[in-house]
Amino acid sequence: MDQTAPTLVDPSVSQLVRDLPKVELHVHLEGSMPAETLFELAGRHRVEGVPGTLEELRSWYAFTDFPHFVEVYLASVHTLREEADFALLASVVAERLSAQNVRYAEVHVSLYAHLMRGVPAKVVFDGIERARMDAEREHGIQLRWIPDFPADFGVESAERTVEAVLRDGPQSVVGFGVGGVESPLGPYAEVFGRARAAGLASLPHAGEHGGPVRVLEALDVLGAERIGHGIDVMKDPALVERLVAAQVPVDVSPTSNICTRAVDRIEEHPLPAMLDAGLLVTLNSDDPTMFGSDLSGEYGIAHDMVGSEGLVRLARNGVEASYLGVARRRELLAEIDSVAARYGIAVS
Ligand SMILES: [Zn+2]
Repeated sequence: MDQTAPTLVDPSVSQLVRDLPKVELHVHLEGSMPAETLFELAGRHRVEGVPGTLEELRSWYAFTDFPHFVEVYLASVHTLREEADFALLASVVAERLSAQNVRYAEVHVSLYAHLMRGVPAKVVFDGIERARMDAEREHGIQLRWIPDFPADFGVESAERTVEAVLRDGPQSVVGFGVGGVESPLGPYAEVFGRARAAGLASLPHAGEHGGPVRVLEALDVLGAERIGHGIDVMKDPALVERLVAAQVPVDVSPTSNICTRAVDRIEEHPLPAMLDAGLLVTLNSDDPTMFGSDLSGEYGIAHDMVGSEGLVRLARNGVEASYLGVARRRELLAEIDSVAARYGIAVS
């Protein structure tokens, strides 16, 4: 580190956030649906239980509490029926990410939520793939997919999901995930074994509300290569040491943690302590439109907690923890470093 590096020249945090090339490693396709898209799709399929005017829908859509979030999430999922619906959503999501200078995203797809409604996996994948290719051509953003199932739905749902992925999943599926209400992960060892044998990364949610034990299971039972949320690891120093030693990335989403009450107040968020401990922390938006945030907003919040140097480190960590190819990773890291140099920020 250059100790003589000048202090931040331009105090405009939002400009720094804007200038940094970013990656998103923990963002849900369905939880990124804008109110306008929900309005359009609900109208297209005459879905009931969704307000009839865009203005009403916008205020209904705004985050109030977790039960209401679940209601909005389920309504949004319910509007996704045909290939064109998935294509529309994925293209809107890609456009919004690209507008924030996000260059690459690994996007969770709640595949089982669609399978259980009778929507074939092929319909989901064909739709999002079309949007992925269009977005890459039009905006230069690269998208990859992480299909998942809910941990509280049992082994059969997990098996149906992995079978659908192995049968119909395109090359752009980089990993396999589990989300939902945190539950013991032991029953999913075999399913994740199949996904990993097929070359997919194990990318579970663990340790958001469920305690360090879920993270241990994710590592030991599912062979997790990255931990979704994982903030509970801070309750177990030995586990932190293990994650630091192996440099297993932990994908953190501050606004989501507040909305789901995993953390009471932003001032109490463990992000600074996690970085100080040497964890490979990445910054993410989780369910951005439904939590009223986006990745840039998370960067702004993180800046308040860890400053400009911390922000650059988070941006670099995202690239390091991604499944981008080595050459593209190097390019993005060099670009981040040159932005940091322009702002006089030391890169640690
Ligand atoms: Zn998530």
